[in-house]
Amino acid sequence: MTGYLCQDIPLNSNQSEPQKSSDLIASLQAEQSARPSKFSTAHKLMAFVCGIFMLGGGGAFAVANMQAGSAEEITQRMVASDVSSLVAGQNLSSLVGQQNFLLYRSERLQANDTAESLLERLGVSDPSASAFLRRNALVNQNLWGRHGRFVTAEVNNNFELERLTVRWVTDDSGKFQRLTVKQSETDDGFEAVLDQGDLTRTSRLAHGVIQSSLFAAADAANLPDPVAIQLAEMFSASVNFHKDLRKGDTFTVVYEALEADGEPLRSGRVLSAEFVNKGKPFQALWFQENEGDKGAYYALDGSNLRRAFLATPLEFSRVSSNFGSRFHPIKKTWRNHNGIDYAATTGTPIRTVGDGVVKESGWSNSYGNVVYIDHGGNKVTVYAHMSRRDVKTGERVSQGQVIGAVGSTGMSTGPHLHFEFRVNGEFKDPQIIARESVAAAPIAKATKQRFDALAEATRMKFEVAPLMMQASAE
Ligand SMILES: [Zn+2]
Repeated sequence: MTGYLCQDIPLNSNQSEPQKSSDLIASLQAEQSARPSKFSTAHKLMAFVCGIFMLGGGGAFAVANMQAGSAEEITQRMVASDVSSLVAGQNLSSLVGQQNFLLYRSERLQANDTAESLLERLGVSDPSASAFLRRNALVNQNLWGRHGRFVTAEVNNNFELERLTVRWVTDDSGKFQRLTVKQSETDDGFEAVLDQGDLTRTSRLAHGVIQSSLFAAADAANLPDPVAIQLAEMFSASVNFHKDLRKGDTFTVVYEALEADGEPLRSGRVLSAEFVNKGKPFQALWFQENEGDKGAYYALDGSNLRRAFLATPLEFSRVSSNFGSRFHPIKKTWRNHNGIDYAATTGTPIRTVGDGVVKESGWSNSYGNVVYIDHGGNKVTVYAHMSRRDVKTGERVSQGQVIGAVGSTGMSTGPHLHFEFRVNGEFKDPQIIARESVAAAPIAKATKQRFDALAEATRMKFEVAPLMMQASAE
């Protein structure tokens, strides 16, 4: 997913409709063909995408237009810096007609991109730029084949490339790499430079309403996939995100984003979140008791959200789903199905839902590759039909540790994980076990005051976010 929240202010405050970037380009093109003009140091126009952007973890919200755009509109992001010259209320196309301009557009590099396909998506029509991008050594080393890298183009009146910037992160040093291709006086017409910049950490707020699925709502709210997954994981003991979601459920999430030159490169940890399921709110706040502590998610009353057991052995994802058919697909009979089946692609990592000891890691004709884990207290979990097993009998494992991968070994008609939670030999619902299992320690008395202040501020954010969305949509 390539959507981003907006950090820009609207170009025209009187405008009630969100300015779609594709419309903007069309209007720019129309103006340009009617009135060709030479490129000079141009005014930079600004359009915007939707979203709420929150500065630096503080309380100040800057609201941009919150209409959810299509994915295409979101990726075709245009930004400008010379805002001061733009008068609120002034008609965009009249500005375009009078002045030269630069367009800024960003795209993620795709796996099979060529110079031509990338430039086309960026709105560039420039054979010499395309030739330079094909033959330059720095570009070849750092761009082609590196899919996912964030590319920004500055494009002039004639849809020629002025500057192309690629930004990416290679390690945790707090720096990012920056490859810049820009027009120059050389015979090539362009030059390429590789350098580094400092990443900045910001926090962002997103709010969404479920229409069909969590990921559809996340896309509409410009929420990156890893953040949507964290959201589903942190509330998994309370809400089964495969089965329990209802149309009209809402979420509000504050999460970290790492930015390079003001462009969001990566999402980080969820700092606080609310999920309202069937009218019932679930809230969480990330808190470290002391600097350097591991940190954990707490409910706003200070109780710890961590449980002794995870609700599911597979991380929530776009492709996995759980299905609980009691009809045996090979024996073609109804039977008492003692587990939950999760559909997932072969190779999807399987994690143990709790700490324990591997009772058996082996093979059976019906279960194929199977792992039994003893969690003590007569609790045993079973993971069947694996494509591979990563643990040995007798090994100690800890919650969340990967113990193998999804497969279709044994009596199975397709890749899935068959999972059982047995207590005293009896099958139990793992969701209920997770919910009721002993939670980790609540917030300590010594830090409770600090926590409560943060919880109060968080509660306010959750209250304000839907109102802001409503207001900006009207
Ligand atoms: Zn099964």
